[in-house]
Amino acid sequence: MSSNEPLHVLVIGAGFGGLTLAHGLRRAGVSVAVYEKARSRTDGLHGYRVGIDPTGNHALKECLPPQLFKTFLATCARTPSHFNVLTERKRITASVPLRGDADPVNSERSVSRQTLRQVLLTGLDDAVHFDKRFTHYERRPDGKVVAHFADGSCATGDVLVAADGAHSAVRRQYLPHAVLKPAGITSIAAKLPLSREALALLPAPSRTGLSLTFAPKGFMCIWHVMEFGWDERGGIKEGAAGNDAELLRSWPGLLFDNTRDYISWGLWAADDKFPADVMELRGQRLIDLALKLTPNWHPDFRRLFSLADPTTTFPIRIATSEPVPAWPTTTVTLLGDAAHTMTPGQGVGANTSLRDAALLTRALTAAAEGRRGLVDAIAGYEAEMIPYGFARVKDSLAQNGTNGDDPLHKPVLGRAVLAANRAYFRAVDRIPSLQRKFLDDLYTYRGAED
Ligand SMILES: Cc1cc2nc3c(=O)[nH]c(=O)nc-3n(C[C@H](O)[C@H](O)[C@H](O)COP(=O)(O)OP(=O)(O)OC[C@H]3O[C@@H](n4cnc5c(N)ncnc54)[C@H](O)[C@@H]3O)c2cc1C
Repeated sequence: MSSNEPLHVLVIGAGFGGLTLAHGLRRAGVSVAVYEKARSRTDGLHGYRVGIDPTGNHALKECLPPQLFKTFLATCARTPSHFNVLTERKRITASVPLRGDADPVNSERSVSRQTLRQVLLTGLDDAVHFDKRFTHYERRPDGKVVAHFADGSCATGDVLVAADGAHSAVRRQYLPHAVLKPAGITSIAAKLPLSREALALLPAPSRTGLSLTFAPKGFMCIWHVMEFGWDERGGIKEGAAGNDAELLRSWPGLLFDNTRDYISWGLWAADDKFPADVMELRGQRLIDLALKLTPNWHPDFRRLFSLADPTTTFPIRIATSEPVPAWPTTTVTLLGDAAHTMTPGQGVGANTSLRDAALLTRALTAAAEGRRGLVDAIAGYEAEMIPYGFARVKDSLAQNGTNGDDPLHKPVLGRAVLAANRAYFRAVDRIPSLQRKFLDDLYTYRGAED
């Protein structure tokens, strides 16, 4: 890059990380363009719940224009009041009150994936290019990077950022030795519209909280109740607080977002508990499979499985990144799942992607302003991102049975581990000092500051 030519950043992928980076760079006055393979802003997305933690809130506050950060807060679902642990027979092992969302940053939030994407696309119309499937890049002798797309077009910039998710095509070319491995876990998920009848099927604390069912044979199920500030026709609900109602009314993203109040469930276990063709199943066949796998579960849980909307079901095989040693820095770099895909065990994949975006924004801004050399700035980013990213990969694999090798999934040992797990959560429920420690550890891990 010549010293008087402004820096131009190419970002591949308009997911949470890529779009947050684009906002951060824009705020800093750095030129950026984002290339996304989806055909339009509503294409190819499930409106599932993602938990945004203090780390994620912090990054969004840093990168988004202040008004858009407020819109993000207003478009979150009602913050979960409790973390509940349940048995498959609908007994409550623990119900731990969470800290609430009075603090916009040091709090846990629930968003719909589709809604957060609409928030992040707001104000970036001229920066995001849809229907651009990245195929490969080349480096020019003058140091520029050229990204090529499946439609035959290309784009040239000073930096290429891989924000193209777990199966990153940029990573495949740049770091071919960095691969994903199966975590040994399969999950099936679905949603049902929130109704009084459906809500009554959940135990009372689960109706406003998030809940995890631990069941024999290593089966687990996560339940989320998602209630938004708008109704099924997209009108603002009566109860939406004054300022939030105004923000929601003036937010153009609501026109594109089809998220409505719902209950979601995600059922998972070791791969060998599922039929070999599970990844080909869709719709009602996945709902029937959930019912077949859970014959001894409480009838109310089974009813919630059967009430799912068949068009919302999908299967996933959980994957995780293999750790890679640090690589020599160049003007191609990675963020989020493209760099470090993790299992959903800790619920921090999106949050780590947002953290990367904020950190990379700072690095590239320093380079654009001439405070650091470009490669030196990216090296600083990677020196921080690689250790914390892969630490999150490791922690996620160790948590909540999202690893097929976890003792929870073993035939005999699994029963003992399940019993120990339940005993631990019963103690967390009943012993105040243990509950305090559980919450302190949870919030600290997820980036809360005192
Ligand atoms: C079931 C489940 C539940 C989860 N729950 C949570 C949670 O509660 N909290 C949390 O923090 N994380 C959660 N995660 C993880 C989280 O979803 C991911 O870590 C996060 O979406 C990663 O963001 P990203 O921006 O790096 O990638 P993505 O969100 O995957 O975005 C990548 C983008 O790149 C685009 N793209 C891909 N290939 C190309 C190409 N060749 N050319 C152009 N564009 C391309 C894609 O279309 C996509 O828009 C969960 C994951 C799963 C599977």
